[in-house]
Amino acid sequence: MVHRPMKIGVLALQGDFAEHITVLRGIGVEALEVRLPEQLDGLDGLIIPGGESTTIGKLAEDFGLLEPLRQFGRQKAVWGTCAGAIFLSKDANRSQPLLSLMDIVVERNAFGRQVASFEIDLEVPALDRVNGGGHPYHAVFIRAPLIESVRGDARVLAKLEDGRIVAAQQGKLLATSFHPELTGDDRFHRYFVLLAGGQS
Ligand code: GLN
Repeated sequence: MVHRPMKIGVLALQGDFAEHITVLRGIGVEALEVRLPEQLDGLDGLIIPGGESTTIGKLAEDFGLLEPLRQFGRQKAVWGTCAGAIFLSKDANRSQPLLSLMDIVVERNAFGRQVASFEIDLEVPALDRVNGGGHPYHAVFIRAPLIESVRGDARVLAKLEDGRIVAAQQGKLLATSFHPELTGDDRFHRYFVLLAGGQS
């Protein structure tokens, strides 16, 4: 088998895609900005960044990306962070363009105005599979959604202490309420690269 570097795209319509690209390049992955359907060709996986899920959805619709993204996600790895997790979900409790790939229900802006942003250490047992696992993951939440429930093949990866779900996985699909691209801890990106390489 010929080894080539993993090629991961980052949907670059709106939001903090540049930060994801920086982390990916830091772990030796070829990272590309995606704005057009044909830029999905040849990718091993795609990250949908945080930002504003309604804007990302609307732009994806305008750019003819909704169906190509759905097709991509039926075969390849896709990770949505924050707004990206909302966009990946089947149900956001309101009407907005969604990819409907992950069998999760999300609640947007679940932490309200008062606690719009916070940071917390999370136990994420799945990260034991990547280098440097075994200690808590420091997570940054910014006007974050909650994963209200996981259904079907989706499973919980991380919860807050009170049991509310903030990370989930369904095969090669990954959703996190928080922003792993902002903390300098690249374990979630390494974990996603494992999924993109077929090790789900
Ligand atoms: N509140 C945003 C939304 O509903 C998500 C915020 C974020 O991505 N940091 O889309």
